[in-house]
Amino acid sequence: MKDNSRFETRAIHAGQEPNPDNGALMTPVYFNSTYQQISPGEPRQGYEYSRTTNPTRTVLEQNLASLEGAEWGLCYASGLAAINAIADRLVPGDHVIAGNDLYGGTYRIFMQVFARYGIEFSFIDTTQRSEVEAAFKSNTRYLYLETPSNPLLSICDIKALSELAHQRGVLCVVDNTFATPYLQQPLELGADIVVHSLTKYLGGHSDVVGGFIAGNDEKTREELAFYQNAVGGQLGPMDAFLVLRGTKTLGVRMDRHNENAMAIAKYLESQDIVDKVLYPGLESHPQFELAQRQMTRGFGGMVSFELAGDVESGRTFSNSTRYFALAESLGGVESLVEVPPLMTHASIPAEERRAAGLNDGLVRLSVGIEHVDDLLADVEQALKAVKQSCGVKS
Ligand SMILES: *Cc1c(COP(=O)(O)O)cnc(C)c1O
Repeated sequence: MKDNSRFETRAIHAGQEPNPDNGALMTPVYFNSTYQQISPGEPRQGYEYSRTTNPTRTVLEQNLASLEGAEWGLCYASGLAAINAIADRLVPGDHVIAGNDLYGGTYRIFMQVFARYGIEFSFIDTTQRSEVEAAFKSNTRYLYLETPSNPLLSICDIKALSELAHQRGVLCVVDNTFATPYLQQPLELGADIVVHSLTKYLGGHSDVVGGFIAGNDEKTREELAFYQNAVGGQLGPMDAFLVLRGTKTLGVRMDRHNENAMAIAKYLESQDIVDKVLYPGLESHPQFELAQRQMTRGFGGMVSFELAGDVESGRTFSNSTRYFALAESLGGVESLVEVPPLMTHASIPAEERRAAGLNDGLVRLSVGIEHVDDLLADVEQALKAVKQSCGVKS
């Protein structure tokens, strides 16, 4: 699967060959569940049943593995189905170290599903090397990282932390959803397993839900492929087709997401009514140096910021935008706005939320690829509405 051509070229070609019989350039959607065998127990090209493998899915797996610089990849029905498969390699008594501002659904599956099976979790600030170092135990199996994190967009050091993990025989897992392989290559930095929600930037058009795991170790692949065949949770062929269509434009989309998000982050930082802007590409970001080293082509499309005032400021802002649609999720071509204290993180008690650095005026933007001037004008008029209706002085 390793290929010397450049990222943008592999995004379009990796795993994909014109059909030798009719020349069709695009991968067909193989809707079949079963395959004719040559003779009993002798399948053609290994295909027997579509829970196990499906040709459309295989092409996407090869394409995504190539983009992550991985030996292998496996596709799942959702990001959480992929995370489930990784966590299901654990047995009672095992321990996982994870970041303390993980994607909410990841925290939920860890604490409300796997903790019931006697798996132990420590949630810590993974931006602090010493905290990670202190969290290892004799039963630790995974160091589970997300960078940039959600919604605070903090950055942890994949290279340094995976070295710490390896010194102790622990596997380093990185959720690369926010950065995408275009901006950040966790395996090259030393991670053992990369996981993705394909629902976000890789799909890129908010029209498909999917997940993906990549790695280099063959034994891990065999275990995960066995588990997928035994349990299910695989990505369907139509969904695989939609993601294949998405990855072709990943590079150009991410370039525009980067540019637009940077412009909006800078604009927000210049506004008195905004207390703080969280974007890894700003010099004011606490891990700016690390972000420059680790995210080689830019800082992504996610921008969070704190408005002066309380949750009502965020409510007014998000009710006032025209192009930024009020919705959860992220990573599509269209811009979205979300108010973590009222939406994705509302289930966390206010005191706990604030202690984790999630303040009441927090707003999260998924900056799309519309014209930047329209997006800036939209943010400007929504800030004006906050000033007027909340009486927040600028
Ligand atoms: C969305 C998301 C997930 C979960 O993926 P689904 O496709 O929604 O199941 C996991 N991690 C991150 C960082 C995400 O943004």
